[in-house]
Amino acid sequence: MTIRLHDTMAGEIRDFVPLDPGAARVYTCGPTVYGPAHVGNFRAVLFADLLVRHLRYKGLKVTWVMNITDVDDKIIKGARAESTTIAEISDRYAELFLADMATLGIVRPDVMPRATAHIPQMVELIQKLLDGGHAYKTDDGSIFFRIASWPDYGRLARLDPEGMRVGERVESDEYGKDDVRDFALWKGPKAGEPSWDTTIGAGRPGWHIECSAMSMAYLGNTFDIHTGGVDLIFPHHTDEIAQSEAATGQKFVAYWLHNAFLQMGSQKMAKSTGNIERVADVIGRGTSPRALRLALISAHYRMSLSFGEDSLVSAGSAVDRLDALLAALAAYRSDAGNDATLPQLFAATRSAFDTALDDDLNISPALAAFFELIRELNRRIDTRMLSTADAGSAIEFLRDLDRVLGIAPAADDTLEPDLQALVDERAAARAGKDWAASDRLRVTLADRGVLVEDTRDGQRWRRA
Ligand code: AMP
Ligand code: ZN
Repeated sequence: MTIRLHDTMAGEIRDFVPLDPGAARVYTCGPTVYGPAHVGNFRAVLFADLLVRHLRYKGLKVTWVMNITDVDDKIIKGARAESTTIAEISDRYAELFLADMATLGIVRPDVMPRATAHIPQMVELIQKLLDGGHAYKTDDGSIFFRIASWPDYGRLARLDPEGMRVGERVESDEYGKDDVRDFALWKGPKAGEPSWDTTIGAGRPGWHIECSAMSMAYLGNTFDIHTGGVDLIFPHHTDEIAQSEAATGQKFVAYWLHNAFLQMGSQKMAKSTGNIERVADVIGRGTSPRALRLALISAHYRMSLSFGEDSLVSAGSAVDRLDALLAALAAYRSDAGNDATLPQLFAATRSAFDTALDDDLNISPALAAFFELIRELNRRIDTRMLSTADAGSAIEFLRDLDRVLGIAPAADDTLEPDLQALVDERAAARAGKDWAASDRLRVTLADRGVLVEDTRDGQRWRRA
């Protein structure tokens, strides 16, 4: 089956044809690390994560690069406010970002390049643009991209090429520009700002050039997929295309994918309005990380998604159902023969699941197929239709689909020895019909986050 993806450049859903058969090179605009990210930011990362997971599930060899912007006006301002260095600020928030990514079960990108470690690549790119007449230097040492030199400018955002750079104010330090539409590739040195001494002069890179340089450094001049939030279409991605293609003479990106916003209340979750929730806040109020992940991926990436208590509660109970089923399957023992219709159930589920995700990552029908399977497997456990071996293959099948969803508990979840000892003690108490001890141990375990349940297959446990 062909994977189809919505390409912003084409304005439609297209068959995904990798540049190299069997492989996909993907770049995601990563965080500017000047403060803690909010769950809206993570919606953008989770969308890329879902894309990468699905491409891998379909057998493609994916190289995923997500940058870290560690030099920027906001970081400089933050460092000044705290009388510290931009390195200290960006290290602190990059670390927090990575920790939140891990909490949300986001696949670690193959490369997470930092802007400050790629200044030579940016300088080289800017030099090419200067040589080609696509860039010019102003008196203060800044270098701008000359929009008039690039007739194709603005196609991604469907801009009127004669139009202004709508919505962007002219920076006070950008007075030297030839054309109000031109954008900074390099910012001349200023007192109190970090600056690099390079062959194009002293200064620091603009944001757009960072992504062009880092994506091409790891993925080549032309790569398959570039992702980001819809707010990045203009100017960020529009500028990335112009400067990259003007420098290399080659097509920059084959497919442009953009996610819609996470809303809270009736507006976009955004730091500027203070309308935000952070991963730690949500987890701290008792939502499990996997439930938060599910809530954030549960709507199609191009639809706006409303964040709220309701969605967290329903994601929480969905994750509980999955956990309970996996625990039940692990404990299941039966002398019954194999369920002859189980392979059909798996095939139908996989077909619905794959068809949905192949269709521009249409997550809702994929989740529906997954949770319908959970219902059906519970029914077959209750009616003792499964063999012991069936239960094992059901776990394997669920875990295979979960390579895309990432909401199942870790497979190798074993209890800490002291907890396992309590579980064993309770099993012994039950075997000896010491119900008082067994009840007491159940409460002790629950207090420590382990729920035990008695089934026909004996006692089984799962984490709360
Ligand atoms: P920012 O910190 O605003 O520069 O955003 C960093 C990344 O997060 C960009 O890719 C944005 O498109 C994305 N982003 C920011 N806010 C939201 C939101 N409320 N929903 C989804 N993505 C967002
Ligand atoms: Zn970017």
